[in-house]
Amino acid sequence: MKLRHGLTAGFVLLMAVLPWLLGSYGRTLLDYIGLATIVVLGLVLLTGVGGLTSFGQAAFVGMGAYTSAYLCTAQGWSPWWGLVAALVLVTLAALLLGWLTLRMSGHFLPLSTLAWGLSIYLVFGNVQAIGGQTGMSGIEPISLLGVRLSTALQYHYLIWGVVLLIVWTVHNMLDSREGRAMRALKGGTLMAEAMGVNTTRFKTILFVLAAQYAAVSGWLYAHMQGFVNPTPFSLGQGIEYLFMGVVGGIADLWGAVLGSSLYSLLRQWLQDWLPHLLGRSGSFEGLAFGVLMILILQRAPEGLWARLRALGARWSTAASQPPRRPSAPVLAERARPAAGEVVLQVRGLTKRFGGLVANNAISFEVRAGEVLALIGPNGAGKSTLFNCISQVDRASSGEVHFRDRAVHRMDSRAVAALGLSRTFQHVRLLPRMSVLDNVALGAHLRGHHSFVASAWRLDRAQEASIQATAWQQLERCGLVEHAHASAGSLPLGLQRVVEIARALATDPCLLLLDEPAAGLRYLEKRNLAQLLQQLRSQGMAILLVEHDLDFVMGLADRVVAMDFGEKIAEGLPREVQKHPAVIEAYLGGLDEPAPQGEAA
Ligand code: ADP
Ligand code: MG
Repeated sequence: MKLRHGLTAGFVLLMAVLPWLLGSYGRTLLDYIGLATIVVLGLVLLTGVGGLTSFGQAAFVGMGAYTSAYLCTAQGWSPWWGLVAALVLVTLAALLLGWLTLRMSGHFLPLSTLAWGLSIYLVFGNVQAIGGQTGMSGIEPISLLGVRLSTALQYHYLIWGVVLLIVWTVHNMLDSREGRAMRALKGGTLMAEAMGVNTTRFKTILFVLAAQYAAVSGWLYAHMQGFVNPTPFSLGQGIEYLFMGVVGGIADLWGAVLGSSLYSLLRQWLQDWLPHLLGRSGSFEGLAFGVLMILILQRAPEGLWARLRALGARWSTAASQPPRRPSAPVLAERARPAAGEVVLQVRGLTKRFGGLVANNAISFEVRAGEVLALIGPNGAGKSTLFNCISQVDRASSGEVHFRDRAVHRMDSRAVAALGLSRTFQHVRLLPRMSVLDNVALGAHLRGHHSFVASAWRLDRAQEASIQATAWQQLERCGLVEHAHASAGSLPLGLQRVVEIARALATDPCLLLLDEPAAGLRYLEKRNLAQLLQQLRSQGMAILLVEHDLDFVMGLADRVVAMDFGEKIAEGLPREVQKHPAVIEAYLGGLDEPAPQGEAA
């Protein structure tokens, strides 16, 4: 913690004195680095945090530059009103483009950013009102506190002030409830939505923020230069921004600063010196630069900042933070159903995958304060049933009622909000996030402060309570010693327990646990059984899929057995264990995949 603050202070100091040590050439270069950094910071959000790749950011830079340039030269607006207009226009454009493209998956999204990046660039060069290929000149400089900014030195403080402001607000934003939700986008939408995160909303927010930062950079550029033409807003420049981010470390805010600085300096240095070294000027600079960048990426595929961080961690002792319980009060809990009250009713639920009937007219109930175990060989349809109950998947027919509400038409977010939470058979954690943060994601729906409030640290009391609540769940599940470890560093069995802690952080009335004991050692299984017993005694309803029959029989109040998508038995553990159909199903193939496509 301290080291980070020291480094930040050092950087601010460096930026305050650096222009005084440089000549006018160096100052101008530093201004351009700052302008690029602002765009790359947006890419860190979009690509590093959200996992959405854009090649088209230069188009947003151009929109910011051209909007303000046009309004100031042709309409006589002041640059500050030009900024407001640029931000409004870019926000609207980003909302429209985001709406059109953010639903695309895989490589379609990056490809679409190429498409609109190119289209917008072509517009700049072809509209005569904004000067066509010639562009516009005579753009008024920005006035700040009564000073008309006219030198590279004056712009230096404005540009790097903006950089620092963005770094600070984005850092705060990411370290918050909605920031965690943004960081969860990389883990796929399925898990995030099941934790109540509106993934479409957060993708859109990241897209709009990245576009706005690009527009601010363009606005500063236009007024600093005094003229604009289409060239700096080309697709090639858009690709360079992405490159800067990747070289510096797209997952890190400081990676953006490092990446754009290094990229611009190296490029400039090669351009200045290579002709001297080779004794002739040619187009070798581009080639040498490309090779250099590839070497850097090969040596540090996660960016140079990640490399530096790893080095820093080796030298500092701060990493071994002692686990300490946050002192803030925990979040309020919802009113719970009385023990014995029916919490979940599944009625005639059928799920077909093409010709395969994975669940055939399944019906059962779960009550508060009971553990209902769902058993059956692999492929019986248990996970499918879980997905249809938690609305991660839609049933083909049938009904699901949770606490007297029909939920089979709701989305998984709404069901999570009502107090139904789950774990996944194939663990879905964010491996790089700490265990504590992974669990805190579960409490997403229990807070209300938006990312805007957290950017300015107005959410601190609530965030402290979310952390304290997550900590409480870690204590409950015996995970405290791992609180600050990255979730991916834990053995798989413990990762399942982290999933339980995350589900508990949602403050559920019903827990769906899909094979929670798989991969646990004997003692860990016993601890898990104790935890589930304790939860049951507190009135939790638990629906559990488990293969380990010993584990189930000692724990469950009732058992539902499935085979080939059918419910074959239901009752007390002892009765179900002796049921001929269950014996047949298990002797027929415990732990072996059932033949597919032969649903009875
Ligand atoms: P279990 O959890 O009991 O082992 P599942 O619910 O995972 O079983 O699977 C039940 C059956 O449904 C299996 O035959 C499986 O191949 C099939 N199945 C599950 N998910 C899908 C899917 N998304 N598409 C097609 N078939 C699926
Ligand atoms: Mg399963």
